[in-house]
Amino acid sequence: MITLKEALKLSKAELASLKEELKAKIAAKAELNAYVDILNVGEGIPIAIKDNIQVSGWSVTSGSNILKGYIAPYNATVIEKLLANGMSPFGRTNMDEFAMGSTTESSCYGKTLNPLNHNCVPGGSSGGSAAAVAAGLAVAALGSDTGGSIRQPAAFCGIVGMKPTYGRVSRYGLGAYASSLDQIGPMTQNVEDAAILYDIIQGYDPKDSTSADRNDGTVSDKLDANVKLKIAIVPDYVKDASEEVRKAYAKAIEALKNAGHTIVEKSLMDPKYDISAYYITATAEATTNLARYDGIRYGNRVEGENLKDTFLQTRSNGFGPEVQRRIMLGNFVLSSGYYDAYYVKAQKVRRLIQEEYNKIFEEVDLILTPVAPRTAYEFGALSDPLEMYLSDIYTISVNLAGLPAISLPVDTAENGMPVGLQLIAAPYAEQTLFNGALSLE
Ligand code: GLN
Repeated sequence: MITLKEALKLSKAELASLKEELKAKIAAKAELNAYVDILNVGEGIPIAIKDNIQVSGWSVTSGSNILKGYIAPYNATVIEKLLANGMSPFGRTNMDEFAMGSTTESSCYGKTLNPLNHNCVPGGSSGGSAAAVAAGLAVAALGSDTGGSIRQPAAFCGIVGMKPTYGRVSRYGLGAYASSLDQIGPMTQNVEDAAILYDIIQGYDPKDSTSADRNDGTVSDKLDANVKLKIAIVPDYVKDASEEVRKAYAKAIEALKNAGHTIVEKSLMDPKYDISAYYITATAEATTNLARYDGIRYGNRVEGENLKDTFLQTRSNGFGPEVQRRIMLGNFVLSSGYYDAYYVKAQKVRRLIQEEYNKIFEEVDLILTPVAPRTAYEFGALSDPLEMYLSDIYTISVNLAGLPAISLPVDTAENGMPVGLQLIAAPYAEQTLFNGALSLE
């Protein structure tokens, strides 16, 4: 597939024929189920859009039955920015219901297959976007990342996925999962394309109260693979990863050294604390955000005997099992008897995680870690929800600390699946992040 950088040079007529080509390819690879719908707005470069980002006039469902048929009344800010920069939203991509999951199996549209091995999961929750880019069914895509949902599917499908600093990209028009963690970001064929797409979608937005009111300029025109950086590696943190991931990690360290970067060893706290803090924070916020789906204001309604029964029937029928599990967990940790023991404690742990990162970034420019403990696994391999939560150990602390990070393929495992690693930077240090990523490409 043509890269985003190359696509910027295409004429209107060439873009129109590219779209026709894409449509034919998508139909030919329909079994992947990367897209849930093909649509198109404008004459620009086609960009695949995760089904939780609003495009005016399109259905937007966050992969949930409760929103099937709901039509977005306005454009998300990122969509306005795409349209203003010669890009066209092109199709909605499949995702885990309300972005809750790591495999794209919990979507109401059924699972998405990993284009590199159809028996394997594409990762999640932005599995549709990752599969679309990896299979050559999109020039680039947008995903959202609450606890790894851009970076992990990128790693599983062998593409580049980038999560910006919290507040860097407007969340206006993004279906909320956990508002203090969610960020929209680019999923692309290479690092330069990620920087190009990042430049377009980032920036202050008064419509999002958590948007960062700053302007650090663009990064794609200042990419520099020759800057020498100080990069932290975290051997203790990596020891629980599979052998293929550890091998890729060692290889990447050598590549970084050869590129002239300075490597220093650091330690990060046991990721079991990240898991607890994340799943308490994310489910608490999700419970609050999903309270709006009551069958009255949005989406599908199942009439009950009275109002309360209508709420009950609507939500019991509309939400899938994983979403219901998280709503229950979130209500539990927010309930008055347990609030201090769980929710408040999780916020304290979150602060410690932020402080730990801050301290490391006083000394280094970037941190190198795995994205996931192992490469893409077969469908059904993680049937226990807790096991699936544990597979997020390497991505979630980045969201808890609000940091920018980029996941990119660095190696191929014996089974032929890609191994991704991630670089993490200090808040707003996206330029350094992209520069460092060039050394691993
Ligand atoms: N797998 C994580 C979860 O289910 C992260 C999902 C995401 O980033 N949206 O919460």
